Amino acid sequence: MNSPTFSQVPAFDSERAFKHLEDQCALGPRNPGSIGHQKCKTWLIEQLESHGGNVSLQSFTGNDPHAGQSRSLTNIIARFGDADKPQLMLCAHWDTRPVADRERDPLRRAQPILGANDGASGVAVLLEIARIISVNPPDKSVIIVFFDGEDLGRESHPEEYALGARYFALHPPPDLPLPSEAVLLDMIGDADLEIPIEWYSGRHASSLRRTLWSIASEIGSTAFVDAPGPAIEDDHVPLIKAGIPAVDLIDFDYPFWHTLHDTPDKCSSSSLGQVGRVLVEYIYH
Ligand SMILES: [Zn+2]
Repeated sequence: MNSPTFSQVPAFDSERAFKHLEDQCALGPRNPGSIGHQKCKTWLIEQLESHGGNVSLQSFTGNDPHAGQSRSLTNIIARFGDADKPQLMLCAHWDTRPVADRERDPLRRAQPILGANDGASGVAVLLEIARIISVNPPDKSVIIVFFDGEDLGRESHPEEYALGARYFALHPPPDLPLPSEAVLLDMIGDADLEIPIEWYSGRHASSLRRTLWSIASEIGSTAFVDAPGPAIEDDHVPLIKAGIPAVDLIDFDYPFWHTLHDTPDKCSSSSLGQVGRVLVEYIYH
């Protein structure tokens, strides 16, 4: 039997993905409660539906400890093709942080960030993947989930983060069995992209993790670094706790993290492309 060659999979258009990153940032900060958040929700639903996704929403509330207010939050779930038994979940958070608490100037720390890397980058890659799988339906059934409320927490309060992923893991849609595995994209737009092996991913999704890194090595996606990385309390942790092996692709070494400087000029299409191509190879093989 011939095994497929790497050139046979659909092409990932990294420029198109980068445009998706810029389009999100053009809406302004997308922290829950903001106008940008409202606009982005509508825009994401339109984008996913225009790519043939069958979109459903999960509405819930979560606390914004910075504002001392409850916020309306929405997970956006898109199924493609026959996703009665989803095999692969691809996910990213679509909300952005309500405060720039890593700004040097204390007077600027209360402002919301634009989240080009921390928010828009993962979503951008997954919107391009939505286009690809709508044009070339894969054998693997795929769902794309955009989590809300990932970045509302205070530092050193991990329980205040990942609200959307927690909600999804505790309240899976009744007509959608939990997927067999998941890949989370977070902060993968850094122009200087290096993705080490995030600790929970290496420990709890070792087979999927190894497969992704070996694809990266075969196709020359050098941003995937075969070295241990930190443990990150991200959206994949609630998924792992729910029994879904989940890999977090994240480059946490980003000087503009949680500052007003997390803007599109710090990101690159080629970084999005390195991640996108690995995922496309994985989906079609
Ligand atoms: Zn963040």
